[in-house]
Amino acid sequence: HPALIWFRDDLRLSDNPALLAAVASGRPLAAVFVLDEEAPGLRPMGGAARWWLAGALRALAAQLGQHGLDLMLRRGPATRIVPHVAAELGAELVVFNDRAGAAEAKVDAAVVARLRQEERQVERFCGHLLHAPGTILSGAGRLPRTFSAFHRAALRLPPPGAPLPPPGHLTPASPLDSDPLEAWELEPSHPDWAGGLCKAWRPGERAAQARLATFVADGLKGYGEGRDIPALDHVSRLSPHLRFGEVSPRQILAAVTHAEAAGGVPETDAAKFLAELYWREFSHHLLAATPDLARRNIQPAFDAFPWRDCPGELKAWQAGATGYPLVDAGLRELWQTGWMHNRVRMVVASFLVKHLLIDWREGEAWFWDTLVDADPASNPASWQWVAGTGLDAAPYFRIFNPVLQGEKFDPDGAYVRRFVPELARLPARVIHKPWTADAATLRAAGVTLGATYPHPIVDHAAARERALRALKSTH
Ligand code: FAD
Repeated sequence: HPALIWFRDDLRLSDNPALLAAVASGRPLAAVFVLDEEAPGLRPMGGAARWWLAGALRALAAQLGQHGLDLMLRRGPATRIVPHVAAELGAELVVFNDRAGAAEAKVDAAVVARLRQEERQVERFCGHLLHAPGTILSGAGRLPRTFSAFHRAALRLPPPGAPLPPPGHLTPASPLDSDPLEAWELEPSHPDWAGGLCKAWRPGERAAQARLATFVADGLKGYGEGRDIPALDHVSRLSPHLRFGEVSPRQILAAVTHAEAAGGVPETDAAKFLAELYWREFSHHLLAATPDLARRNIQPAFDAFPWRDCPGELKAWQAGATGYPLVDAGLRELWQTGWMHNRVRMVVASFLVKHLLIDWREGEAWFWDTLVDADPASNPASWQWVAGTGLDAAPYFRIFNPVLQGEKFDPDGAYVRRFVPELARLPARVIHKPWTADAATLRAAGVTLGATYPHPIVDHAAARERALRALKSTH
């Protein structure tokens, strides 16, 4: 009687505890991925993530194919499909790795109940996080309310085990019907839109492991400072690979720890990078404890906040046409490549919720649709962090000045020049505030404000005052 592995956010063969358990059972193996867009509360993936998923599934199918195993693709509610496939196969054992999220947990619980009713054995594992949700607790027995308390508590636990090897030999079960991947229409029919994604990324476990190796060799040293400069290649860009589980956090932890022990990587750079990995953990633990993280303010005082409804300004923000070069560069990077540098994510998010007073949920939804790393935990948690509505969040009254942020983190304007080419010929001293340039400078750079590049959509000082007044009205 075969074993069935249900792949989800863990599209890899190495360090995959569910897969290894299935192989260790000695049974012939079948593998399924279910596209479930129907379960109540389950958030359908956005456009960029769907594009990534198609590539990731192709890569996983190719890897399994080398072991003679087919990846079965089925679409529909997992609560029906998984038990159905298990029955078709006559599987005695079903294995999968857990995911955070209340809607997901509900689906999983229903699937498990059905399978057990039918007397199939179920084994589930934690493969997506360093520590399972619910294992990092404050003295009061709940999720710590600050990141630093969470991080300290996590470091007091026994360290996560070493990553598991990929399986050796797999014995395939007889194959069953599978949907053709093309039938799912995950990739957009407008090639122009996906063109930038294709140029920027290669989904799949092999590409993920190669990126990890390159980053550890070339980018980790100097990460502590370099990570804030969006024009530099000093961050790992592992986020979409992590989102789809093409690399595990345990593998990253092991690679970084090894590089540090071997010398050549300063402890401070390794520690800073690993702390970011713990921010990811914090978001996932928060999601597990907060079912509607993408909808509800964690701080209810913000429920009465006077968000403005102004579709025109939201559109200008989405299109990268706010007249603030750093903000526009970030939003255009997002649109063109499906990713945005973290420093710039913070600036554009702050601009939306503070300068434009638009509800963070609008920005979160835009990121959800356009990010290849759009993550059910990290995206809403980060938006709530920036908006000041979240756990241990940046206070709302701390308002980024987009010009000063640009001058500090993109001092020569290299990042703006790359993504806002119509400003590329402006000198560095005005590139983050073109409206202050004199007419001759603008003419020499071929810039006509209001024609080739917009005037600022709001005045920084006035917008800042308005945001502080709005805050006062509810706090
Ligand atoms: P690195 O700097 O190389 O960090 C390594 C890994 O640590 C990342 O891949 C990521 O998994 C994790 N990480 C880093 N920073 C954070 C953080 N602040 N919170 C949680 N995890 C982090 N990250 C997502 O993965 N998905 C999202 O949907 C997402 N939405 C965001 C929205 C906003 C408004 C903001 C401010 C941040 C968001 N982030 C999100 C967090 C962060 O910006 C990205 O994880 C990071 O930029 C990814 O690039 P990297 O892999 O090169 O990061």
